[in-house]
Amino acid sequence: MSGGAVLAIDQGTTGSSALVVSARGEVVGRSYREFMQHFPRPGWVEHDAEEIFAVTARVAREAIADANTEVAAVGITNQRETVVVWDPATLRPLHRAIVWQDRRTSALCRELRAAGHEETVRRRTGLLLDPYFSGTKLRWLFETDPGLAARAESGDLAVGTIDAWLVARLTAGAVHATDPTNASRTLLFDLDEGGWNDDLLALMGVPRRILPEVRPSSGDFGVTDGGVLGVEVPIAGVAGDQQAALYGQGCWEAGTGKCTYGTGAFLLFNTGSTRVASDHGLLTTAACNAMGGPAFALEGSIFVAGAAIQWLRDGLGILEDAAESEAMALSLSGNDGVYLVPAFTGLGAPHWKPDARGAITGLTRGTTREHLVRAALEAMAYGTQEILAAMERDSGVRSTGLRVDGGAAKNDWLLDFMAGVLGVPVSRPKMVETTALGAAGLAGLHAGVWRSPEEFSRVFAAGRSFEPRIDAGERETLIEGWQRAVQGVLAASGLSR
Ligand code: ADP
Repeated sequence: MSGGAVLAIDQGTTGSSALVVSARGEVVGRSYREFMQHFPRPGWVEHDAEEIFAVTARVAREAIADANTEVAAVGITNQRETVVVWDPATLRPLHRAIVWQDRRTSALCRELRAAGHEETVRRRTGLLLDPYFSGTKLRWLFETDPGLAARAESGDLAVGTIDAWLVARLTAGAVHATDPTNASRTLLFDLDEGGWNDDLLALMGVPRRILPEVRPSSGDFGVTDGGVLGVEVPIAGVAGDQQAALYGQGCWEAGTGKCTYGTGAFLLFNTGSTRVASDHGLLTTAACNAMGGPAFALEGSIFVAGAAIQWLRDGLGILEDAAESEAMALSLSGNDGVYLVPAFTGLGAPHWKPDARGAITGLTRGTTREHLVRAALEAMAYGTQEILAAMERDSGVRSTGLRVDGGAAKNDWLLDFMAGVLGVPVSRPKMVETTALGAAGLAGLHAGVWRSPEEFSRVFAAGRSFEPRIDAGERETLIEGWQRAVQGVLAASGLSR
């Protein structure tokens, strides 16, 4: 270890946090602050980029003050896909940031699909034509604001995802750069070539010269301006939040994966240097290898994960606190055939049925609230099993285990059950802020705070590992029960094949 500490900035959808991580892996300083969400119309979600920067710079300064130690590098991780447009001379935003959750380009996506562009988009970017991604958000901006379009044409405009915006502001305009993991979420980035693609740029109406330069995730993103953070420190790591978590969980080799269980769940599975196209509705995305260099990953998400527990708590009032779910599930020796399919907002991967709606099946007179709670927890395990199985089929790579984090991963019963359903060990790190940790690792590796990825991973104490304890026959019965419940949901929604 060469010493020093890393400032990890995690710019999320509801707030910004900053952590100072010492070379020995201790969090020696931290701060967190939320910022305003703007919902100007149904389905629209916007952020004030100026506020995001102000809040982020503030938590960064607070964390540095809290740590009272020398910071050797800055790592940035961020909410993905959200787009910012700004004036390159004044560094002022020229429009509210359009957030990943924003659905305003649904009609545009439908038009592009109808015009036959989906196949090209999929082949080049690994993504789908969905409003979630940045590309159609930029096209929308230029189509609705002729002033912006004119500035884009003349090159008098800068665009980027949140990482690029923060890099521009932290370096006082010296650097306009992003990394492959963020770039791969824009619909403008060719995964194989590892760069912006002219056909995609033409499709979304984005001139190349206003885009940030794509640099390695563990690399040189300039130096923070002394007037901004009070210190001049190299920005040496940048990655989108899910890929940063994948890195922070040590999933650097093909076959390793992580799932984050919050409101929804995000599963990323590293496929190494092989780009895998999915036949099961999964996305292909850029990720990082051990050195922070390019790798590929498959990505699948469950729309409703911990939110099903929230619903039982707030909607039905059958538990007071999410943490109670653990004892309630444990009080039963089995699920007694009760399944809860939380397709409240449709079914995500690998089904892709946005119009499906949820169901509880297997009810009897003996069904209790404990059964419903247990079924909501079990659903997270089955949802994970379906996605992981699809990833294995797509990639031909066997999973060697799953690393987990996020609010619901605090639940030991859930992780124990999940290991049984997956048939591979499930492990939870001691340091659960894996997103920030990943950004710290990427930056610290480039800046020499850690001499090797192994040295970085060693400083973080292992957490707890859950071994599969369900036999093969029982696993099969449980999974079959879930599959029948899902078929029932599809039939009830008029969607069964
Ligand atoms: P997000 O980042 O999406 O807001 P968090 O990572 O903070 O989510 O996790 C919060 C979610 O985890 C909530 O949906 C909550 O219901 C769920 N949750 C929290 N604690 C537990 C627990 N012990 N068991 C199961 N679910 C939990």
